[in-house]
Amino acid sequence: MTDSKIPERIGRINELANNLWWSWHEEARQLFRALDYPLWRASSHNPVKELREVSPDTLQTAANDPAFLSLYDSVMSAFDTDMSARNAWFTTNHSNLLNGPVAYFSMEFAIHNSLPVYAGGLGILAGDICKEASDLGLPLVAVGFMYPQGYFHQHISLDGWQQESCQELNFEEVPINRVFSPKGETAVTKVELGDVVLAIGVWQVRVGRTNIYLLDTYLEENPVKYRELSARLYIADQELRMQQEIVLGIGGVRVLRTLGISPTVWHANEGHTAFMMLERIREEVTKGTSFAEAMSRVHARTVFTTHTPVLAGHDIFPAQLVEKYFSGYWESLGIDRETFFSFGQQDGSATRAFNMTALALRMADQRCGVSRLHEKVTRRMWHGLWPDVSEDQVPISHVTNGIHVSSWIAPELYNLFEEHLGEDWVKEHDDNRLWERLLNIPDHELWAVRQRLKRKLVGAIRERMRSRWVEDDVPWGQMLAMGALLDPEALTIGFARRFTEYKRPTLIFREIERFKRIINNQWHPVQIIFAGKSHPADFPSKDLLHQVYALATDREFQGRIVFVEDYDMHMARYLVHGVDLWLNTPRRLQEACGTSGMKASLNGVLHMSIPDGWWDEGYNGTNGWALNSDFGESKRGEEDELDAEALYRLLEEEVVPLYYTRDRSGVPYGWIRLVKEGIRSIVPIFCMRRMLKEYTERMYKTAAK
Ligand SMILES: *Cc1c(COP(=O)(O)O)cnc(C)c1O
Repeated sequence: MTDSKIPERIGRINELANNLWWSWHEEARQLFRALDYPLWRASSHNPVKELREVSPDTLQTAANDPAFLSLYDSVMSAFDTDMSARNAWFTTNHSNLLNGPVAYFSMEFAIHNSLPVYAGGLGILAGDICKEASDLGLPLVAVGFMYPQGYFHQHISLDGWQQESCQELNFEEVPINRVFSPKGETAVTKVELGDVVLAIGVWQVRVGRTNIYLLDTYLEENPVKYRELSARLYIADQELRMQQEIVLGIGGVRVLRTLGISPTVWHANEGHTAFMMLERIREEVTKGTSFAEAMSRVHARTVFTTHTPVLAGHDIFPAQLVEKYFSGYWESLGIDRETFFSFGQQDGSATRAFNMTALALRMADQRCGVSRLHEKVTRRMWHGLWPDVSEDQVPISHVTNGIHVSSWIAPELYNLFEEHLGEDWVKEHDDNRLWERLLNIPDHELWAVRQRLKRKLVGAIRERMRSRWVEDDVPWGQMLAMGALLDPEALTIGFARRFTEYKRPTLIFREIERFKRIINNQWHPVQIIFAGKSHPADFPSKDLLHQVYALATDREFQGRIVFVEDYDMHMARYLVHGVDLWLNTPRRLQEACGTSGMKASLNGVLHMSIPDGWWDEGYNGTNGWALNSDFGESKRGEEDELDAEALYRLLEEEVVPLYYTRDRSGVPYGWIRLVKEGIRSIVPIFCMRRMLKEYTERMYKTAAK
C-alpha cells in the first residue's frame, strides 16, 4: 500500500507503522487491530505488512468511522507528545551531560517479532534499552546487523528432534527504511576484509526517538560470496564470524561518520562489537595523533558490558585469522604486531589467540558485568588482565539488567494497575512508593486477571496445535506434547529459555517417579510448559531437548508436560503473562543475569530459581523461592542431586499446597500475597528504567567528562 492510497484523514498511519513505538503502546496496537483484525492476525502483528495488503475499501471505511478516528487521533497525539517531549527524565535532569548521543553497538536487537534480528537475551536487552532511551529522552543511536534470514525457526520432527529452517525476509514488509549516503548511494561506506573491499548498506529502524542503524552486505557491488555475509546471526564458522565483527565494529563507526553523527560516548554490548574501539583509534592516528594519546582518548569515552560468565561463550580468534585481516590494520594504527596481539591476550601467557573480551576490557574505561554476582565472577575471570591488584580490586563493576516494563506487561494487568495505582503508574514504575498501593487491589480481582492470562496462553498454544494438526495430521503423542491436554485450572510451571546444558532443562526429571507423583496428583495437578531453541551446532543441548520431548509424548505423564515450538518474543509474552510459576535452574555462577524471570514477576508470576544472576540480589525471602544451592566447593559433584532435591521439596511442601489453599470464593489468598510481594519488591528495581538511569548517572556521565 503506497501512501497515496491512504485517505488523507488517516494519512499518518504509515508513519506510525514505521516507528516501532506502536509496539509498546497498547492503544496503538489496538488501532492496527481495529483496522483489519484478520489481516492483523495473518500478518503476525506486523502493521507494515498489514498496510501493504489492506484493501482501499477498508481504509476508506476506517477513515469514515468515528470510533476509529477517535482512536486514531488519540494515538497520534500520544505519539507526537512522546516524540517531542521536553519533560522526559534525561532532558529535565541531565540535559548538559552529553554533546552528542550515546552510540550503542550490539550484534542483535529484539524490538518486535516483525523484525526477527535477534536470538535471545542479549538482543532483548538491547531492544529494551532502545525503547527506554526513547521514553527517558536519552539521546542514543544503535548499530547492529540487518540479517535477511534472521535467526532460525524451530520445528520438532515426529521423532522429537529439533529441525531448523530459515525464511528469507521480505524487506518491504519489515519496519525498516533504506538509508542512503549523502551522495545518494546505497553503499554508505566501505570496509576492507583482507584484500577485498566490501560495500556496506544501511537500514534505519525507528524505535520512538531512538534510531537503530542495521548494516547489510547484500549489495550488488559486492562479490557474490560476500553478499551473504550478513545473512544470519551467530554463524559457527570462525572466519565468517570475524568478518561479521569487522563489518559491525569498523563499518559501524564509518557509517555513523558518513551520516554525520558524532557520538560522545560509545557503549559496546559484549565483545563481538569491540573492533569499533580500534577503528576510533585509527581515526585519531590518521589525523596525526600518537597511538598512545589516541588510545587514551578512545579509552576515556568507552563503556563496555560483558555478559558471559562461561569462557566458551567469548569470541576467541586464532592468530592466523587475525594476521589475515589485521596485518595492514595495525600498521595504520602505528603499532607493531606484538603490541596489537597483546591487546587480545587473556593473561600473561604466550597464547596467540585473540580474545575479543580482553580487547574490549583493555580499551574501555567503564567496564561492567550484568548483576552483582556476575561482577564477582567476571573479576575472577579477568584477573589476569590486572595481575598486580587483588581480585576484589579488579576494575570491573556491575549494572544489573532490567526489562522494559511497557513492553512486557500484559494489557489486562496494565489496566488493573491503572485503576488501582493511578493513571500515571507506568511513568512512576521505578519508584518504590508507587508499589505500596498494590495492597489496594482486591485479591479476587488480581486473581481473575491471572486466570484470564492463563486461559489466553492455553488458547494460543491450542491454536498453534490446531493448525499443525490440520496441516500435518500429527499423531496423538505429538498432540500431547503440543499441549492438547493443558488444563487452565492446574498449577502451571513455565520453563522457557535457550536450551543449553548449564541451564539444566532436565533437572526437574532427575527423580522421575517423584516428579510423576507431583504432576499427576489428581486433586492438585501440576503441568509444565517448556519452550526454547538449541543452537544448531550444540548437539548435547539438542539431546536434552529430545529427552524433554520424549517425556512429553509419554502417556505416563498424562499430557502434563508440554513443549511449545519456536520460542520467540511473541510466545515469550504469552508465557511470562500466563503461567503461575517461572522456573530457572542454571548451574550456579553460570547465569550472568537472566531477564525472563523479571518479565514473569512483573506479571504476577512467582519466580523459583537457583540464586544465580539477578535472583541472587532479587530474592528477599518472601517474594518467590530460591533453590538454595549454596553448598560450597566440596559438594560441587553432588550439585544436580542437591538442587533437584531442593526443587522437589519446595514443590511438594510449599508451592503446591499454597496454590491450592483457597478461600470460600476460590481465591488462593496466600499465593496472591506472594504475588503482590513479588511485584512490589521486583518491578521498581529490575526494570530497564532503573538500569538506564544507572548507566547514565555512573557510566555515561564519567565517559562524557
Ligand atoms: C526474555 C527473553 C530471553 C532471555 O531470557 P533469559 O532469562 O535470559 O533466559 C530470551 N528469549 C526471549 C524470546 C525472551 O523474551
